[in-house]
Amino acid sequence: MSKRTFIVVGAGIVGCALAEELSRRGHPVSLVDAAEAGSGTSAATFAWINANGKEPEEYSMLNFLGLQAHERAAARGDRWFHQTGMMQIASSVDEATQLERNVANVGLGEYGARMLTRSEVLELEPDLDERVVLAGAIYPREGWLDVPTMCFTLLDRAIAQGVRYFPFERVTEIDGALIRTVSPSGAESSHEADVIVLAAGNGTKAILHSAGFEFPVVDPNENALAAGSSGASVGIISSTGPVTKGPRHFVRAVGIAVRPGRNGGVTFADHPTGGRWGLNDPEIWSVPELLLERARRLYPSLRAAATESVALGTRVLPEDGLTIADWIDESNQIYAIGTHSGVTLSAHLASCVADELVLGNRHWSLSRFGIDRFASVT
Ligand SMILES: Cc1cc2nc3c(=O)[nH]c(=O)nc-3n(C[C@H](O)[C@H](O)[C@H](O)COP(=O)(O)OP(=O)(O)OC[C@H]3O[C@@H](n4cnc5c(N)ncnc54)[C@H](O)[C@@H]3O)c2cc1C
Repeated sequence: MSKRTFIVVGAGIVGCALAEELSRRGHPVSLVDAAEAGSGTSAATFAWINANGKEPEEYSMLNFLGLQAHERAAARGDRWFHQTGMMQIASSVDEATQLERNVANVGLGEYGARMLTRSEVLELEPDLDERVVLAGAIYPREGWLDVPTMCFTLLDRAIAQGVRYFPFERVTEIDGALIRTVSPSGAESSHEADVIVLAAGNGTKAILHSAGFEFPVVDPNENALAAGSSGASVGIISSTGPVTKGPRHFVRAVGIAVRPGRNGGVTFADHPTGGRWGLNDPEIWSVPELLLERARRLYPSLRAAATESVALGTRVLPEDGLTIADWIDESNQIYAIGTHSGVTLSAHLASCVADELVLGNRHWSLSRFGIDRFASVT
């Protein structure tokens, strides 16, 4: 029997993982991207692998399965999940009380979160300024993921397994199981397969719109561009140049989240500032310096560190903040994935979406994440 053929649209972390998985199972796959692999939201992510504080319970479990899928890949020898553990620092009695509550509430049995005494924190993070540490907690199974390494390694494997890769082809239209594309030079092309899987991040909504389907994600253009917009989906990730001393774990304290950077520096996320910026808001550029200043209060050794790179990202945000992974049309020719936390979820989603596409089995962990939960679609 001939194998089902697939077009995967979008070579971000989700699309690369899925193309690799489907081709490993022997299916002919074409992978199409408007730009280069890994250049969408996956290029501007904090890449924290966690299921910490995520709600509802089913979403927390989905993320925990995502974490475990990365653990299994690491056990097989893949080198992109840096399971440093996440350490949360408490500087006051109130923060320590809150932390105890959080540790008790990570209700995932094998998550292994536990409180740390002040001296345990300082032993594990010796470059911390001891004046800011009262207590801490460790979430040992969390860490961060080197996204470019995962994307490009999986893309290389996929190509070696026969995937045909078409970078710089933007999908303009979808018609049944056929897609039409245009290159930056204006050259038009088309591709056809049994099934089209849209993993085009913030591009999926417009592609589906061309075929008359609603995809209930926050419109990135409306949400991200204007200064003063709600800005919920915009984030800024900054990194210093290489440092000799600094955080060894993924570390969070009030107002700051830092982790080792993939260049030997320190990487910061903006979300602890609580700021909501539009992409065109000039104030967003003050964030890296603000975060570096806060980090220096934790790690005085970062005094001489300077910001070396900054990336602006627009989150892929389904309207309820949760994942969508489901068939779009009645004849099961179009499937779409749209999700925040896609770095945490990528390996697990690739495996269970491939089961659904190839075998027709919907994994139990996806049962809450169908598209028909949105009134705008049904
Ligand atoms: C600031 C920030 C911090 C984040 N922090 C975390 C975190 O700590 N942990 C975590 O797990 N997640 C985090 N995320 C979320 C995570 O980065 C995303 O969920 C994930 O990168 C989405 O990957 P994707 O492959 O679905 O989409 P993308 O990476 O956006 O890939 C989609 C691809 O589709 C292509 N494309 C788009 N339109 C078209 C078209 N018409 N035709 C062809 N190709 C097209 C794009 O070029 C792109 O390459 C964060 C996101 C942001 C912005």
